[in-house]
Amino acid sequence: MPHNVTLIPGDGVGPEVTEATRRVIEATGADFRWDVVTVGVAAFEESGTPLPESVVESIRRNRVALKGPVTTPVGSGFRSVNVALRKALELYSCLRPCKVYAGAPVRFEDVDIVVVRENIEDLYSGIEFERGSTEVGGLIDYIAGTTGDHVLSDSGISIKAISDTRSRRIVSFAFDYARRHRRKKVTAVHKANIMKFSDGLFLAVAREVATDYPEIEFEDRIVDNMSMQLVQKPFQFDVVVCPNLYGDILSDLCAGLVGGLGLAPGANLSDDLAVFEATHGSAPKYTGMNKVNPMAMMLSGVLMLRHLGEEERADRLEGAIADVIAEGENVTYDLKPSAPETAAGTSQVADAVIERLG
Ligand code: NAD
Repeated sequence: MPHNVTLIPGDGVGPEVTEATRRVIEATGADFRWDVVTVGVAAFEESGTPLPESVVESIRRNRVALKGPVTTPVGSGFRSVNVALRKALELYSCLRPCKVYAGAPVRFEDVDIVVVRENIEDLYSGIEFERGSTEVGGLIDYIAGTTGDHVLSDSGISIKAISDTRSRRIVSFAFDYARRHRRKKVTAVHKANIMKFSDGLFLAVAREVATDYPEIEFEDRIVDNMSMQLVQKPFQFDVVVCPNLYGDILSDLCAGLVGGLGLAPGANLSDDLAVFEATHGSAPKYTGMNKVNPMAMMLSGVLMLRHLGEEERADRLEGAIADVIAEGENVTYDLKPSAPETAAGTSQVADAVIERLG
């Protein structure tokens, strides 16, 4: 029986890395029926919405999607398709493993961190009010009346809401993941010293949930200190659980620790749906150049194969990718910082991985 999977090529470099990934996944021998769908600018021009309902329905039906990056216009235009998709499907958990593969250009060899990011709420959830709007005026009046604080009238306002329910759900996910994968420690990241009612709630819930997992060590770190510790001593961290915004930023930091965005895979998960995508975005300046590293997307494909119960094929694909990195010959410019002129292109990396698969 083939696996039914929704395939979202995305835009920018998305179609190139997605095609390279589709090729290597199929080369493992796994059988797929791809439902290829369009989102973003192209969908907006076609149907007036960047995220057509048919795409959401396709993922609901297939339960699994492989997604390329999608460009979000900055400042104006439509809101992020990525955020909208996570909200529409309640993909509450973003899992971003950051592991060093031998041969990758890194400062520390022994990094193996899994960032678990809450994906729906927090400052990042897209609840915003534009400066000059009636809503902002009303909020400013409300804040002045209830707290005595005077927010300037030319402010824009973004809302940071953190709930007990969603904090509990993501921290439990992180501990369950740690238990399933025999990880030893969970670190909760926050700024509870300043944001007592939002991050403070997240931390209080994390401490409570931790008591259900006595065999797993628990600690917390304030996000600014965490950033410094990650850069200086990353090997002290194992599973890291964060509210949405810190998770977004720290997972890029952790991507930098393992060789860059070209090697950082990810998964967005609900209780029954899974959308696999690289941490990186659409890198628009490289569109159509056959230049960027498809391995982050391929490693997201490895996560997808595992999710589908294809453990042996996932191991073989991960092994083939690791071999290509270790050989250092057929890799893209980001993995050849000292000789970028000898770098392979996106599709050559796929050819090399397929060759290693045998
Ligand atoms: P980006 O991740 O697209 O690129 C930043 C830089 O990282 C690139 O210029 C490039 O130097 C490097 N890079 C990224 N992917 C790489 C790869 N596969 N191989 C080698 N190098 C790579 O981030 P950005 O420029 O901030 O965002 C571009 C667009 O992507 C924006 O519209 C943003 O909203 C969107 N975005 C989408 C997603 C998503 O679809 N999940 C995630 C992040 C950003």
